[in-house]
Amino acid sequence: MIGMSFADALFAFLALWLIYLAVLWLRELNRVSHSEWRLSNSRLFHCDKCHHSFVLKKMENLTRCPRCNAICIAKRNKL
Ligand SMILES: [Zn+2]
Repeated sequence: MIGMSFADALFAFLALWLIYLAVLWLRELNRVSHSEWRLSNSRLFHCDKCHHSFVLKKMENLTRCPRCNAICIAKRNKL
């Protein structure tokens, strides 16, 4: 026989369950942080004429909108 009372067994079960949930939670946080979208604001352009937002892979400050061909200027964040 196992020398454990019902209250001890219940406490052990709940403790193991909480540890299991914490492991799953940390695993999910780790998975989300690795697959999260990251976008540099210096590469994000927004056309003021047609309100189209687009991303360029090249580091340029001035480009043309792919939708309406208007000139767009990259806006930088002032932190
Ligand atoms: Zn445009």
